[in-house]
Amino acid sequence: MSPLFMLTITFTVFCIVHCYPSEASSDITVEEEENQSFGQELDEPTVMFGDIAVETGLQNADPCTSRGCKWVKYSDGNVYVPYVISNQYSSRERSTIERGLQSFAASTCIRFTRRTRQRDFVNIQSRSGCYSFVGRRGNGQVVSLARRGCVYHQIVQHELLHALGFNHEQTRSDRDQHVRILYQNVIQGQQHNFRKIATNNLGTPYDYNSVMHYGRYAFSRNRQPTIVPIPNSNVAIGRATQMSRNDILRINRLYRCLIVIKRSLKNLDMEFFLDDVAAVCWDSINSISSLDDAWSYFNPLRSVLKL
Ligand SMILES: [Zn+2]
Repeated sequence: MSPLFMLTITFTVFCIVHCYPSEASSDITVEEEENQSFGQELDEPTVMFGDIAVETGLQNADPCTSRGCKWVKYSDGNVYVPYVISNQYSSRERSTIERGLQSFAASTCIRFTRRTRQRDFVNIQSRSGCYSFVGRRGNGQVVSLARRGCVYHQIVQHELLHALGFNHEQTRSDRDQHVRILYQNVIQGQQHNFRKIATNNLGTPYDYNSVMHYGRYAFSRNRQPTIVPIPNSNVAIGRATQMSRNDILRINRLYRCLIVIKRSLKNLDMEFFLDDVAAVCWDSINSISSLDDAWSYFNPLRSVLKL
């Protein structure tokens, strides 16, 4: 292909600071007692909602009442989240974790980067179970990915989504229109995992395919379902193997990620919110390598975005 027609498209992702105020964060409430399977070591935090951690004594405090729950956006538009991975992991486990961390960069402005000397960071360790705090907590915050049972791509993404400020899909404020919770089948003492939260849903639809959605038999005491989709009870839930488009959309909306497409041939700069791109064809846009490719992906965007 002639160099003349070689496309130089630069995708630069940046975000606008202070766009979405912290409604999403401030609505996240954490309370209640322990998940019995976690929190047994002295230094383990209390685990709520299955795998959401809160520090003992802070159950009634809302960790996200201020803007501080979101991670900080830098002037280049990226949200850098420093991380440390414990040396407990094998190289294979470590690469699974790193692949999960890096997957956010492909479709959002979140950039997990190795910690150098940043104050706030995600401290990934193999403790008892898979859990995370919701949102940025300040200083090092543990994300537990137990070597046994938690080092899988979707679980890595799931726990990091908590750290970015997101709750479980089935606790959404509008969940009663989409799922029915069968409390009679829930293990005694675990009902709090199904408590509804006044979440800010960022204009995204309820998503059975979210990596944040629990499965049908979560916390079941009798092998009967605890979560049943409505109106169609046969819809699959909680089977995601990676972040859904809506998961990506929510990140991009919460953090106001933008995509800038610079097309050097006509010196044309176009800007889109990543969430629009994600909604249309984010999966494909990474693979653009020619002008034809670009326009075949671009045109649907133009109509959606009314350009
Ligand atoms: Zn979770």
